Amino acid sequence: MQYSQAVLDDIRAAVDIVDLVGRFVNLRKAGSHWKGLCPFHAEKTPSFTVNPQKGIFHCFGCGVGGDAFGFVMRQDRLSFPEAVRALAKSAGVALPDEHGAKSGDSGREELLRVMELAGRFYVDTLWKPAGERARAYLDQRGIDAGIARHFGLGYAPEGWDSLLTCMKAEKVPDEALIAAGLAVARENRPGAYDRFRGRLLFPIRDLQGRVVAFGGRGFGDEQPKYLNSPETPLYTKGNLLYAADLARPTIQSQNRALLVEGYVDCMMAHQHGFTGTVAALGTAFTPAQLALLRRYCDEVITFFDADAAGQKAAARAEELLEPTGRGMAWAVNRSGAFEGAGTLRVKVALLPAGHDPDTFLRTVGSEAFSERIAAARSILAYALDRALADPDGATGPRARTTAFARVALMLAKVADGDEAATLSREAAARLGVDPTQLWIEAQRLQTSLRTPPAQSQPTAPTSMPPVERDLVALLLYSSEARTELLDPLARSDEPSHASLRAIVDALRQRPDATPESLMTDLPTDEARSVLSSLLVEDRESIDARVSIGQFQRRLERSQRLRRAREVSQAIAETQAKTGVATPVHAELMTLHKESAVVYEITGGVAQSLEHGTSTSTRSSDE
Ligand SMILES: [Zn+2]
Repeated sequence: MQYSQAVLDDIRAAVDIVDLVGRFVNLRKAGSHWKGLCPFHAEKTPSFTVNPQKGIFHCFGCGVGGDAFGFVMRQDRLSFPEAVRALAKSAGVALPDEHGAKSGDSGREELLRVMELAGRFYVDTLWKPAGERARAYLDQRGIDAGIARHFGLGYAPEGWDSLLTCMKAEKVPDEALIAAGLAVARENRPGAYDRFRGRLLFPIRDLQGRVVAFGGRGFGDEQPKYLNSPETPLYTKGNLLYAADLARPTIQSQNRALLVEGYVDCMMAHQHGFTGTVAALGTAFTPAQLALLRRYCDEVITFFDADAAGQKAAARAEELLEPTGRGMAWAVNRSGAFEGAGTLRVKVALLPAGHDPDTFLRTVGSEAFSERIAAARSILAYALDRALADPDGATGPRARTTAFARVALMLAKVADGDEAATLSREAAARLGVDPTQLWIEAQRLQTSLRTPPAQSQPTAPTSMPPVERDLVALLLYSSEARTELLDPLARSDEPSHASLRAIVDALRQRPDATPESLMTDLPTDEARSVLSSLLVEDRESIDARVSIGQFQRRLERSQRLRRAREVSQAIAETQAKTGVATPVHAELMTLHKESAVVYEITGGVAQSLEHGTSTSTRSSDE
């Protein structure tokens, strides 16, 4: 193992797993543990559990689990050594000098280092004389220097190798810069050149505040106006929200996020005190982005210019109301919602025609902006407007009937009961029908829309024999069981389940370890998940003494059965070789003896049927 147990224990003790997981999952206290929606599979009711006493997490839905290291590995796609270093750093635990530590690296860590160095270079350049043009641009856009620094804005100087030259001094190879999307390999000849030249750079950070990409804005006629990092191992388009790391605390405390389109809109909102603002980094909001927000708040407010609002909001609402595995629902609810706590509500705040949040805040001010937010209307209301309007402009009873059908269909897709009820009342009033009638039709449609559960069930750990599971749980909770059973287990084929066997092997290596600290000894994700599932069960109250006795008998029985099998095989082989049925007396005697003991043991623990068989067989033996 790369890191000593002592170091791992130090880190484990210093990390608050509720705090760590809470950065990604909206956790709520439930007795002695915390619950939330699993970040690793889609669910509507929380089955993701965090146990702070043991420092572990476990999802009863998809079966994944582990400790702080396992969580970081899964969430950030890190290798184990990377996860150890990341947690050690954030917990302030010093790691012993490491050489050759790169071997387990997935390369992400190196890329993150490159991005950090590049980010620093660009920031430095912005505030040096070379950055004058970019600073003038910030002035012109009304962006304060303080906000520019808060967001880590930078400037990529003109020239083909400014970054490359600087990085050579840091011993960063060109290949790493190319892999990070910061440099472009030359065609037809060796070497590379800077991707970003003469642009204002907006660093795009992940939720931990690490730079993973850049958006670069030109100042003049450069094309394109915005040049962004390509997709890299660090950055997938549509998975992140700009400024999510800065906005998260406000979003959580206000239980609401403001969602804008551009970098400058976002910065301007922060500058005016709306610090719970994020930007979508693209024209469409992806379900992944909304799912991310869903973990931190119950409400998202987005902004549309009054001219375009109706159309855009209706189109967006339709994008979001899409079929899912379990029928129709808001796409965002694929990441789920708390029982009874409603779903993520998306609202639209209207801005006057021709305005975006940036221009509105600078010319009209933050007070008016707050008023617009307060007046925001559910995005579904826009979808309702569209459903009510006849596409051909027809009126009369016939058109009303089809509008009724369209509205009922739309309502059928709305997962949030409260929201659906409000909308159906509004629609009923405008259609001149009884709201109950509309509601019943929507319910009927909802049932017929619901398709049988999809096959995309999260992969459950391969089935394991319950007896083996009980045995390993006993070993984890009782040191006496470890003393009594680890040795006989070593001579048996049990447990047959690979993950359970890995846990037993780890216990044999360190029988005095706390069960949760075995996490880092296990070789596979599956084994860690199995361990976490055993640890969250709280079996401490089981009567170890009785169980130990049962397992001892069981192990002895299977051991003798195996010996009997070996003997009978030896007899068969001897007979095949010699061609005669003699002289195998000694072996036969052994076989009989073993069988007899086996039957006795079986009689002691098994049901009457097996007992009956054993008795009759035994009498015929004598
Ligand atoms: Zn899960």
